[in-house]
Amino acid sequence: MAIRPIIETPDPLLRQISSPVAEVTEEIRMLVDDMLETMYAAPGIGLAAIQVGVPKRVLVIDLQEPEEEGGEPVRDPLVFINPEILRASDVLQVYNEGCLSVPEMYAEVERPDSIRARWLDRDGKAHEKDLDGLLAICLQHEMDHLEGVLFIDHLSRLKRDMILKKLAKWRKERSKLAA
Ligand SMILES: [Zn+2]
Repeated sequence: MAIRPIIETPDPLLRQISSPVAEVTEEIRMLVDDMLETMYAAPGIGLAAIQVGVPKRVLVIDLQEPEEEGGEPVRDPLVFINPEILRASDVLQVYNEGCLSVPEMYAEVERPDSIRARWLDRDGKAHEKDLDGLLAICLQHEMDHLEGVLFIDHLSRLKRDMILKKLAKWRKERSKLAA
């Protein structure tokens, strides 16, 4: 396993549409394992393959929710290959989203509260499930990446420009610290 570099906006690769995985091979499993390691190291709760520069429909998610409130985070890696949303609720929920490709920036995004999704896991086994809460939000955010969409695209132009300005400022400060 290896940690891969995460690409950040405005890298044009992030705008590419990812292609379906024809077969879950050993190469795909290696990609999945690297993505999990990269996500945990970042740290983040979700990562799409395109964020490490691979335009394939592969996602990893781990909400690392503690078993009890206020407890230690527990690892529960989920792998979504060729995910599809079959149904989405009319009811929406708002969540303050962030993204490893738009570092340090957060904004409220509205998405369907619950979805029915279908996907393959790391072993190529098919799953179909109703998902809600943070997992539904996170899966929709990661699936956007497969279409070249970032969470900031859901915001008004004004809010998006504000975030991109803040990001430029944050990067400048980061490079000053590194110098
Ligand atoms: Zn993201």
